[in-house]
Amino acid sequence: MTIHIETPVLASRALSLSTGKNVSLKMEALQPSGSFKTRGIGHACETYKARGARRFISSSGGNAGYAVAYAGRMLETPVTVVVPATTSERARHLIRSEGAEVLVHGESWMEANARALELMTPDDAFIHPFDDPLLWQGHASMIDELARQGERPDLVVCSVGGGGLLCGVVLGLQRNGWGSVPVIAAETAGADSYAQALRAGAPVLLPGISSIATSLGARQVCDRAHALAQEHAIESVVVSDAAAVAACEQILLEHRVLVEPACGASVAALHGASALLRQARSVVVILCGGVGVTAGQLAQWSAQFAA
Ligand SMILES: *Cc1c(COP(=O)(O)O)cnc(C)c1O
Repeated sequence: MTIHIETPVLASRALSLSTGKNVSLKMEALQPSGSFKTRGIGHACETYKARGARRFISSSGGNAGYAVAYAGRMLETPVTVVVPATTSERARHLIRSEGAEVLVHGESWMEANARALELMTPDDAFIHPFDDPLLWQGHASMIDELARQGERPDLVVCSVGGGGLLCGVVLGLQRNGWGSVPVIAAETAGADSYAQALRAGAPVLLPGISSIATSLGARQVCDRAHALAQEHAIESVVVSDAAAVAACEQILLEHRVLVEPACGASVAALHGASALLRQARSVVVILCGGVGVTAGQLAQWSAQFAA
């Protein structure tokens, strides 16, 4: 049994026509928790439970916290998620709806996270949102599936927040004999911690996040994601919030699926300038999903960027 489900790969006629490439979408937005996070977090939770954990603790009010809550319900294990006061009522409700306990502490994630760490007892497992090899192994299952579902693509595109997804995608490519398939790592301006790390030669701590793509809002990427650029062909692409939102609208219109700008960033990267993209004929985009958006919010962003 796995916590995640197998997702389809959809050939996107619309994106293929607008880019002149064969574009397919790995539909991680269809995971039960609404994002790819269920893969890595499900695998981590199962592993920690097998090692004796009796409770899972998270400090994410976003897709990671929701995925932990979902995994806890599947594994019949209690979950506590500590979130800052800034976390939306809708996010709190979603996490509670999975049976998890939501504790509100502090004004920022730093304070909530510090509280979560204080709560830890030897019976608890802390589930990090991106920096844990167990997460990367779980995320890599999406590439295992891709390898069973079709032919080797020329290029894979995924979004980067803290870099857990990127680590999983590269691990998956390597363990399926696709180590030569390059990866575009997409981010929005204002949440571009990966682009800045590559430029600086080391992970950089951003002073703040100014993008609406909050799921990409890790202020610093994990060391492993940065180190990967030395052993795999990875190109960083930074898109605007406006382009990410337009890409969400395109996915909604063409595929009738609602995704966050964090995910739209990967689709928007298909329309930008990129050396890897120019050489590729077949491209798989990881449609990573996200529950932090409603149709109303997307329409509001679109109107805001049109103005
Ligand atoms: C978490 C998340 C990301 C970024 O993943 P990282 O592992 O932090 O790089 C991108 N998109 C969505 C929808 C997410 O939930």
